[in-house]
Amino acid sequence: MELGILLEAGRRHPDDLMELALEADRRGVGVAVVRRSARHEDAGEPWSPWTIAAWIAARTERLRVGIVPAAAPGAAFGASTPAFAVTELRSVTTKAEQSLESLAPGRVLSSATAWVVAPPRPDAAGLRALAVRGIPILPVENAADLDRAVALAEQLRDVPSPPAPRSAESLAARVPGIDYDAVPASLAPTAVEPGDDAYASVSSTYLRGGAPGLVLRPQTVAEVVDAVAFAREHTGVALGIRSAGHGISGRSTNRGGLIIDVGGLDAIQIIDRRTRRVRLGPGATWQRVAQTLSPHGWALGSGDYGGVGVGGLATAGGIGLLSRKHGLTIDRLRAVELVLADGTPVRATETENSDLFWAVRGAGANFGIATAFEFEASEVGEVGWAQLSLVTDDLEASLRRFGQIAADAPRDTTVFLVTGRPREADQFVISLYGVVDDPDPDVVVDRLMPFTELGMLVRQHVVMTPYAGVMGNAAEVGPEGQHGFGEPVSRSAFLPSLTGEFARDAAELLRSGLVYFFELRTMGGAIADVSPHETAFSHRSPAFQVAAMSSSDDRLSARWRELGHHFDGLYLSFETDRSPERLDEAFPPPVLDRLRSLKRRYDPTNLFRDNFNIAPAAEDAPSVAADVASGSAA
Ligand SMILES: Cc1cc2nc3c(=O)[nH]c(=O)nc-3n(C[C@H](O)[C@H](O)[C@H](O)COP(=O)(O)OP(=O)(O)OC[C@H]3O[C@@H](n4cnc5c(N)ncnc54)[C@H](O)[C@@H]3O)c2cc1C
Repeated sequence: MELGILLEAGRRHPDDLMELALEADRRGVGVAVVRRSARHEDAGEPWSPWTIAAWIAARTERLRVGIVPAAAPGAAFGASTPAFAVTELRSVTTKAEQSLESLAPGRVLSSATAWVVAPPRPDAAGLRALAVRGIPILPVENAADLDRAVALAEQLRDVPSPPAPRSAESLAARVPGIDYDAVPASLAPTAVEPGDDAYASVSSTYLRGGAPGLVLRPQTVAEVVDAVAFAREHTGVALGIRSAGHGISGRSTNRGGLIIDVGGLDAIQIIDRRTRRVRLGPGATWQRVAQTLSPHGWALGSGDYGGVGVGGLATAGGIGLLSRKHGLTIDRLRAVELVLADGTPVRATETENSDLFWAVRGAGANFGIATAFEFEASEVGEVGWAQLSLVTDDLEASLRRFGQIAADAPRDTTVFLVTGRPREADQFVISLYGVVDDPDPDVVVDRLMPFTELGMLVRQHVVMTPYAGVMGNAAEVGPEGQHGFGEPVSRSAFLPSLTGEFARDAAELLRSGLVYFFELRTMGGAIADVSPHETAFSHRSPAFQVAAMSSSDDRLSARWRELGHHFDGLYLSFETDRSPERLDEAFPPPVLDRLRSLKRRYDPTNLFRDNFNIAPAAEDAPSVAADVASGSAA
């Protein structure tokens, strides 16, 4: 059981307090809490508890350090938690706590931690009783007090700590509608709720700011089962499923709801060298996957950004820089394991739960929580990796020409185009980035030359590298988590071919300044080799996938509707509009009908509904599953 000492700033010279803290640290006391002495509160004492705590944190090795920022009037010995520190601004104390944290990582007790000041001359039994309310801390003014504290700490060392209580402030931050006390024991140690230290690091995702009511972080399949059971008891709040938090829809965070974050299931395993079979946890990022496969001369085509997670991408599609040669990411999937809405863990392959296997590859978010994926990696050696920047004052012509060159290129060449608002007058910067999957530099140069005609080439970076060098573009998410804020706004569509009319309309949209990010992902090649019936991702024939991001949802929607006649379907991974019509565009009618029938079978209560929800078909709806599976309903 943990025991601490209370050091009163103002009662003794800071040097004396430091001596006591160093001695406590040396003799194995766990915690020191510093607060301003009530007696010296108004005496103009220059050493604030923060300053003293910072010194102690910097000079001790193991001592965890807490601060009572400003004592409330009348607060003396007796039960207290830092929650009474209402006189200082929360944002200021949070910043100060963060600074201390960088000085002594993992040793700063934030205001979410409860402690309780022990009465004078406590005994071990009294301290044990006190511990259910917080970490008992003993006032220490001199060496004799410290000796007593150390003796008690030694007596209590092997007594198990009662479950850590939460501070009053932390309890007040809880969200109505979530039964926090019912969090399964398996998940409680890793769960994060609003008052917790780790909360800021799990609230937001890459693109969206969030404030969830509870983040469950299962580390095993059994814990995912427990998390799903908890979610079934909380259908009144939003439920987000998160792998690596790079979803563009942003639904892997929310405000006031529940998140099941399977990012901790991030193992990458090679299970059969002969067949290049690899097993990936949903929380692995594509950057790590590429690094692991690279020494074997293998790769798995993914999206274009290494920070994206396996879970979100491999349940949606995966249009990437190897796609024209090796297909979508889901085309290399051989098995997936999921926890269904009723808590059953299942495996789905071509032969086992094959209808589920079909559904997951394109509409996975609706059917369960994927806990593992097995892929057949491709043999990929060194590739040409190109990043080119060009300036054009005739965007329409550049887009038109890009459409021809990119779509007609041999399938070893996959090039994406990004542009945005005009820089000045009518000048646009076009960024092209792409992979030529051929180890011969001459072939790479040959393939890329036509693209350099799309404008004035102002920057070029072309290297031969393993695919891991292409995916090594992502910043690691650090302990502070992701920092998305606000709501992302993105529209998505498939473009059957890049016509002159589309180039004209797209150039006009970009000239309006409404869109700050516009991307054309080249499809075709191996993507189109796969029958539209093979996976729920059935838009196999478009030449491009197009995405546009803006800060104005309404205005972008209006302009996107005007472009609608150019499009045929949409890819959900780049869409943020969750109107039901978007589902009709993502899935052709027979596909959507089949998905609805399967949803009725696998998630009849619609537990997994918070990301492009496919509502379960009504009980008496005719099943079209067989027709679609055989291809006759297309
Ligand atoms: C910078 C950037 C570049 C991108 N480039 C590409 C690209 O080139 N090609 C491409 O195809 N996509 C691309 N994407 C889109 C990306 O693939 C999707 O947004 C994907 O869903 C992100 O996966 P995640 O696990 O990181 O995200 P999360 O935010 O964790 O998850 C996104 C959604 O996926 C679902 N989900 C997540 N984990 C699971 C799970 N274990 N089981 C079931 N459902 C789950 C949930 O509905 C969740 O809301 C890009 C995204 C970003 C941010």
